[in-house]
Amino acid sequence: MTMIGDDLQQVNNRIAKACVTAGRDPAAVRLLAVSKTFGPEAVREAHAAGQRAFGENYVQEGLDKIAALADLRASLAWHCIGPLQSNKTRPVAEHFDWVHSIDRLKIAERLSAQRPAHLPPLNVCLQVNVDGGANKSGVPPEEAVALAQAVAALPQLRLRGLMAIPEPAADFETQRELFLRAHAVFEAIRGAGIAGAELDTLSLGMSADLEAAISAGSTMVRVGTAIFGGRARKAG
Ligand SMILES: *Cc1c(COP(=O)(O)O)cnc(C)c1O
Repeated sequence: MTMIGDDLQQVNNRIAKACVTAGRDPAAVRLLAVSKTFGPEAVREAHAAGQRAFGENYVQEGLDKIAALADLRASLAWHCIGPLQSNKTRPVAEHFDWVHSIDRLKIAERLSAQRPAHLPPLNVCLQVNVDGGANKSGVPPEEAVALAQAVAALPQLRLRGLMAIPEPAADFETQRELFLRAHAVFEAIRGAGIAGAELDTLSLGMSADLEAAISAGSTMVRVGTAIFGGRARKAG
């Protein structure tokens, strides 16, 4: 097996093991392979090993990769997971399948207006700021339900859930505690009875902390380093 295929299998094993430990069904947690900074050939290799969902942080880099892998388009799902500025929404609405980083209504309104009518609605998650870092993106937890209601009402978006990126913590319990805050916000949104939403996605956990995330209810882990190796340039 190729190295990427091998690493993918190890990550899938970690996910399965974490699910067993948490008493959860391994099928309830999906793997998003974060391919930022790696070229299209790395994605092609992961695809050949069975991986179908890929996450990108930088819009232009993602668009270049989507174009380079046009032959695989029908069997790939592209997720935009980086901070999104309003002048970059159009190509995202036109070419991606998911956006995880909705933190204000204006971005959501633009994505909905710019989503081409011939495509299915764009799947979106709200990014919630669970540890209150002032310079971090994400909607404050107390504003999340109102934002979810407004986003779910937009015609060309399908609200799927939440994403959070808490600060890395030194130990499992502290990390789990931060993830549980995101889970609590997710439950509050699910409990709000929002029409038109399909709230099945809690996007939590990365290479270093996916076990803590799964123990706190994650349904989608976003993993880069453990699949593709270390990144030379700084991740946004
Ligand atoms: C880079 C990145 C990841 C993956 O991080 P790793 O530590 O390499 O697994 C996940 N989510 C987001 C939003 C990222 O920017």
